[in-house]
Amino acid sequence: MTYMLEGYTYDYSVGERYSPIAGRTLRQLTLAVPGGGCKYWLKTRGQGCTFCGFPGLTRRLNLGDGRDDYFGGWRLDARIFEGMYRSAIENAEAADKLALFNGGSFFVDGELPPEFRHRFIADASRRPGLVQIMVESRPEYVTPAALDEAAPILGAGRDFADGAFGIGQPVRGNGFAIVEAHQSIAGKTVTVGAGEDVRARSDWLGSAVVSDVPAYTNSTLAVDVADLPVGYSLGAGGFDTHAPHKAGYRLRVGSDYSVSAYGTLLKANGEPVGLLTGTASPVDDPARQVAIFTNAAGRFGAEGLAPGRWTITMATEDTPTVFELTVPEGTDGLFRAGELRPARKG
Ligand code: SF4
Repeated sequence: MTYMLEGYTYDYSVGERYSPIAGRTLRQLTLAVPGGGCKYWLKTRGQGCTFCGFPGLTRRLNLGDGRDDYFGGWRLDARIFEGMYRSAIENAEAADKLALFNGGSFFVDGELPPEFRHRFIADASRRPGLVQIMVESRPEYVTPAALDEAAPILGAGRDFADGAFGIGQPVRGNGFAIVEAHQSIAGKTVTVGAGEDVRARSDWLGSAVVSDVPAYTNSTLAVDVADLPVGYSLGAGGFDTHAPHKAGYRLRVGSDYSVSAYGTLLKANGEPVGLLTGTASPVDDPARQVAIFTNAAGRFGAEGLAPGRWTITMATEDTPTVFELTVPEGTDGLFRAGELRPARKG
């Protein structure tokens, strides 16, 4: 069925198709968007593949009638393609395969904006019901670089829950980064950059996409998240990058270790454990350590904890003093630990 968005025509429908890859019949959501003009067709000034009338059609749809001698391309904004995709994915009946047709080749920047392409892959690959995504392309545009561009977004990346970054997959031009929110802050708006220099922001499609991470140079992506739970710890609040040429990053903001706890440490006789340093470690993972300091009254604050049982070890005279702290399941952001007495000495 045909629809209109901001004066541009697109089409989507759901039907059953046999998939040789899945080995069964799938319910396929087919979305046809008016791409920016098939590169091959433009290059051959309208000769293209003899049977094909699609590029001429998208030219008429996007530019109007009377442009039969124009072969300069007519790519729409990423925003419009995203709107068409959103309309189809949200309004069509449930499907287990998604096919996107743009009247040319999916991986060509002049046909579909890279930012839309990245977000389309990122969103579609995370839809729980979808088992297959299909896009169209002439074979010469399905290059190793194009596939490597898609791989990290599809999920070949590592998990960066602690704020470190990793993975470098070759892509075209400068690197790019997909910045997504950890499940503990799912649905919050992630902003990459600050002030006048906002470089990307997440929206209904999920992740923020930074498409200009410089190669061969140190760079920092500052991140912020709107409406964080009080006390939620974002850790360093940014990612350091040093992208190899043509590299993509998949970064995650937030983590399970996002609880900030505060309370007071007292000795067995009720005196404060004042002006001392120590560490907090999960009972089942002693190697992970969070630094703790107390003031003169024994008050402490610790960032980067998670729900579960923790051991606090303070460097008291002679032998360390050990406290137990339990952060309840479901704690989000700030946890008031109250007064803690020693579990044991040494
Ligand atoms: S590559 Fe596809 S869109 Fe381009 S001319 Fe051939 S069939 Fe048509």
